[in-house]
Amino acid sequence: MNVKNNRVHCDKCGEKVRRFKDLKKVNEGYLCPKCIRENRAKRREFLRRNILGIRKRSDLIKEWAAKRELRKNITYKPKIKLPKEDRLKINTLGLYLTKNERLVLYKKLVQGENPLTSEEANKRINNLSEQMKTLIEKLRNEVDTQEELNKRFKEGFAKLIEG
Ligand SMILES: [Zn+2]
Repeated sequence: MNVKNNRVHCDKCGEKVRRFKDLKKVNEGYLCPKCIRENRAKRREFLRRNILGIRKRSDLIKEWAAKRELRKNITYKPKIKLPKEDRLKINTLGLYLTKNERLVLYKKLVQGENPLTSEEANKRINNLSEQMKTLIEKLRNEVDTQEELNKRFKEGFAKLIEG
């Protein structure tokens, strides 16, 4: 007799079933009908929430409370998350700046001693973007290597954002 067929206990909850046939083989082992049902429900919930993005209101309320709590405890922002459109505008700064440098610029504009609004910051960044295009053109005529160009550009960029 197959040793498996002696099993009458659920591997998950330990509940005893009448016969081996009542257990169902899944990744976790041999489960009773109740655990199988629970697993299915969890899987459905997972699909609804994480794949379809449907959230339970009770969960949202819990999440909001947790976020409020977190905000209370945080005295600095470790990371800025930009709205999508701001990210796009910052991207127009060009290939010469890393993502991080773009964030530094934005952060500087909205968090400094005289903070700009998001709109003003974007305007400023757009202006800088124009100035930098000019700067690149100028540098192209002055330097020979891409490396030197990047270096000079970053120096120029630093000067621009100081002003
Ligand atoms: Zn079970």
